[in-house]
Amino acid sequence: MANEVRAVVAGAKGGPVAVETIMVPDPGPGEALVRVQACGVCHTDLHYREGAINDEFPFLLGHEAAGTVEAVGDDVDNVSPGDFVVLAWRAPCGTCRSCLRGRPWYCFDSANATQKMTRADGTVLSPALGIGAFAELTLVAAGQAVKVDPAAGPTAAGLIGCGVMAGFGATVNTGGVTRGDTVAVFGCGGVGDAAIAAAALAGARQVIAVDVDSRKLEWAREFGATDTVNSSEGDPVEAIRALTGGFGVDVAIEAVGRPEVFLQAFAARDLAGTLVQVGVPSPTMTLELPMIEFFGRGGALKPSWYGDCLPTRDFPLLIDLYLSGRFPLDRFVTETVALDQVEEAFAKMQKGEVLRSVVVF
Ligand SMILES: [Zn+2]
Ligand SMILES: [Zn+2]
Repeated sequence: MANEVRAVVAGAKGGPVAVETIMVPDPGPGEALVRVQACGVCHTDLHYREGAINDEFPFLLGHEAAGTVEAVGDDVDNVSPGDFVVLAWRAPCGTCRSCLRGRPWYCFDSANATQKMTRADGTVLSPALGIGAFAELTLVAAGQAVKVDPAAGPTAAGLIGCGVMAGFGATVNTGGVTRGDTVAVFGCGGVGDAAIAAAALAGARQVIAVDVDSRKLEWAREFGATDTVNSSEGDPVEAIRALTGGFGVDVAIEAVGRPEVFLQAFAARDLAGTLVQVGVPSPTMTLELPMIEFFGRGGALKPSWYGDCLPTRDFPLLIDLYLSGRFPLDRFVTETVALDQVEEAFAKMQKGEVLRSVVVF
């Protein structure tokens, strides 16, 4: 049987999103039906609606969500009806060559629901990042539903499903930031601020926030940045060198996804420093850099897919840090909105007015 629910659908490239009635199947084997309680509005949703991810319209948007398990199919034992869960877009399969090598955070065959959610007329919807959670109910692979402590509350908890996890993981998992490191974070949106908060938590001695928007730099200080650099006012590489005794940082985190920012982060490292790329580039972007600089500076250039996270390990960890007052999830929430306000939330995001708008149901 299918459930009729309200959901936000992007019907055509560049067009405004609309609330529609969609059909969500009851869970089959290995699937979980989740009643969504909160879902953050992420840049990736906007990229889908602009056609920048792929052209498999119509998209069912939303992927940064928390809710309760409504029902599970056969062969599901990780969650039960009533469990409070955060949805993950990585559910390691356990059998691909990466999982078998003990690197499940690179899983090459992450699971999604088998059955399709559709429009009322039967048109198959493409769920954003295999989730689709701007919907009263959504269907996922059971492994995508990660049980966490319900004391966290859905508005804060849902954020760790995407942007916050990516930023935190970029610092801690990919960058390996530890006590005494110097860190620069380029781009102070949700991902960048999570990277900054994680660096402060990990004991970085200096956390330099870089952005073109002075309002965002103010917010970055609240997340633990020790210094700020407005890159619209001068060369951020020189500024970072000046702040680090002329050397540059141990770890530079690119949280924008643009070639010119990558090159700034590349040059802002100390010798043997690490560059972490967590900002998502578009398919047409290219990089050009002096090969001798890459070789001569040593260190590492590391992409960070979803913060190299293992949701079953890292979601409960982030919730514990939040509940004990050590990771400020609430600070990411600029506003809560209704399901029919996603288009307005996109506009505010594009103007840089919000860190996160969160749809609450
Ligand atoms: Zn996202
Ligand atoms: Zn796998």
